[in-house]
Parts: sequence; structure tokens; C-alpha cells
Amino acid sequence: MSDNCLFCKIARGEIPADKLYEDDDILAFRDISPQAPVHFLVIPKKHFSGPAAITEAEEQLIGRMMRKGNEIARKEGIDHYRVVFNNGEQAGQTVFHIHMHILGGRNMNWPPG
Ligand code: AMP
Ligand code: ZN
Repeated sequence: MSDNCLFCKIARGEIPADKLYEDDDILAFRDISPQAPVHFLVIPKKHFSGPAAITEAEEQLIGRMMRKGNEIARKEGIDHYRVVFNNGEQAGQTVFHIHMHILGGRNMNWPPG
């Protein structure tokens, strides 16, 4: 837990979010600034600053985020989607609590800008 972390506050229910799924370990909610018709985030409730902070102990947790993210994507009506984890400012990370973006519902370009 990190007192001043935005996503910890969302996980604790201190800041509202448009939640799509929640259990003891993870939470999924719509991105406040969607970059595609479907754009949501999946986070662990426990604070990790980003992908580089993940250790062997979190392997199962990250796999669970992926599996639940896929289930939610299907419920949202998309079976083609992009999964993004940003690690570090240069990669575009702005919130330093690990989060998995799932985006879909439009054609995606590669490589990303
Ligand atoms: P990143 O740039 O990978 O760190 O992604 C952070 C994402 O969090 C961005 O896509 C933001 O639009 C999103 N975001 C920021 N604040 C909120 C919020 N209060 N609720 C939902 N999504 C948010
Ligand atoms: Zn946090």
C-alpha cells in the first residue's frame, strides 16, 4: 500500500472508478481517458511501482491479471485487443502503480508511436 498513490486510492475505494471487476487481489476499471472504444486497466490491489518491480512471487498474480483481463474483454464484446504495460517515463508510464491496459474496438497500428 502506498498512501499517495492514485491507483492504491482507487483500490481502497477512496477515489471512484468505473469498475468492471473486483476480487481480493485485483481490480479492473475503465480508463478515465479512453484511447479506444474499449479501454480498461487491470491492477493488483497491492502496490508495485511497475513491471520492473515484479518478482517471482508475483508471477501468478500477473497471470491472473491477464486471464481476468481476457474475460472482461470478451464481456465487453472484443476478442481482438492490445495489452500494454508501460515501464518508466520514457515508455509513457504516468501512474507508478503497475497496470495492464487493454484496448480494443478499433484497428491498431504497429509499431506504436
Ligand atoms: P500509463 O500512462 O501507462 O501510466 O497509464 C495511466 C493511465 O491511467 C492513463 O491511460 C490514464 O488515462 C489513466 N488514469 C489516470 N487517472 C485515472 C483515474 N482516476 N481513473 C481511471 N484511469 C485513470
Ligand atoms: Zn499504488
